[in-house]
Amino acid sequence: RKCLSNSKENGLLIGLLVSVVFGVLMGVCIRSTYGKLPKREIMYLGFPGEILMRMLQMLILPIILASLISGIAGLDAKTCGRMGLRTVAYFGTTTFLAVFLGILLAVTIQPGGNADRSSMQRYGKAEQLNSADTFLDLIRNVFPDNLIVACFNAYRTKEVPDTSPLGNITTTMSPESLNKTDEAESSKTKFINEGTGKPNVLGIVMFSICFGVMLGRMGERGQPIVSFCDCLVEVTMKLFSMFLWYSPIGISFLIAAKIVGMEDFSVLLGKVGMYFVTVLIGLFVHGSMILPFLYFIAVRKNPYRFIYGISQAMATAFGTSSSSATMPVTLRCLEHNNRVDARVASFVIPVGATINMDGTALYEAVAALFIAQVNNQNMNFSQIITISITATAASVGAAGVPQAGLVTMVIVLAAVGLPIDDVTLILVVDWFLDRFRTMTNVMGDSLGAGIVHHYSVDEMPPLDHDMHDFDGDN
Ligand code: ASP
Repeated sequence: RKCLSNSKENGLLIGLLVSVVFGVLMGVCIRSTYGKLPKREIMYLGFPGEILMRMLQMLILPIILASLISGIAGLDAKTCGRMGLRTVAYFGTTTFLAVFLGILLAVTIQPGGNADRSSMQRYGKAEQLNSADTFLDLIRNVFPDNLIVACFNAYRTKEVPDTSPLGNITTTMSPESLNKTDEAESSKTKFINEGTGKPNVLGIVMFSICFGVMLGRMGERGQPIVSFCDCLVEVTMKLFSMFLWYSPIGISFLIAAKIVGMEDFSVLLGKVGMYFVTVLIGLFVHGSMILPFLYFIAVRKNPYRFIYGISQAMATAFGTSSSSATMPVTLRCLEHNNRVDARVASFVIPVGATINMDGTALYEAVAALFIAQVNNQNMNFSQIITISITATAASVGAAGVPQAGLVTMVIVLAAVGLPIDDVTLILVVDWFLDRFRTMTNVMGDSLGAGIVHHYSVDEMPPLDHDMHDFDGDN
């Protein structure tokens, strides 16, 4: 049975790798035959990929909710707390190292040095974000006001014009605001909580942990809900194992559609190309040396064997550009191939996919320094410190969805007084870099789960059943 399962896993891995190559070839062939296709045709070409994204996202919610609740219910609060502290310590250390490496590379390579700004192309428009609002949104999302809404919508604060007559009456009638011009000004706008259309993973994780702890304290009386959650995880995982066979098809079309729709790649010959290479070098060094080295120091086992175990997740991260959508594959690889305890994996991975993004943090730092160099602005030491802090915040604030890092980039630029519209200079290569940084993000989370498993597993009671039975044979 083990032999059969191994050959199935290898078949799937080969299928995923072939699908990446096939997707690139298909995209390049269509592009060279028909040129850049109109948006509608690109949408049709990417349709099988869109279905894959939907299938993966459909499973995120039941997997997180049920596996966290049933896993945490079997642990005491002290063990949970220790596991949480280890996770946060690992996330903090690796994000710091990623930002540091990004700054070091950008300062040494100087990708934007001596750039002719006028010859650089701009694409699209920059989105306006405020760093304090993004931080508050993160905290707000940890405490969802409505659990059902949290399952399909995370909040984002937006300042919009206040056109409602009531809004104006209430503000102008307030006696304090009568003579103050700035307050009169602010009465023209209001803050709304806008739904992002993505599940609020942090809120669901927070709820599931609290719920699981309380359920555990109830002992026998809580057992029916724990058994229900166990059963839900098992069904979802079996369903997912079936969906996984579709992923090579979906990934090919996702990649092909991106290539067919991309801007001219001749831009890579200029300064943007230097920036592209700098980020790639950084991601490569971080993913293939620094993270494996940390794993080796902590666990004393071969990190590359561990990475081989998550290769399906890496291929999915490359294909989907989303650590959230990759989450079910990551969990499966960790538990099935690397034998990471299901309770640890289902705690570290959802939190990591939302707040631990080493690849994104590194890229934010390089991009901010690149834009500074293009603008001929020398960053002094305190500005570099500001970049490192805001790049960390921007990576924490970015959701695990395609190109989320580009949106939070404006936080970094605004903090050091760089023109936020300049993110449009790097937009053209962003979709491609996004695939590599998502792979680094997924790798960072996975190795973190391996390290936390190593330190925590002996403190936990043994699992009395195979919590996530993937193969569906029992
Ligand atoms: N796409 C990345 C992820 O899902 C986030 C980003 O850097 O844009 O991890």
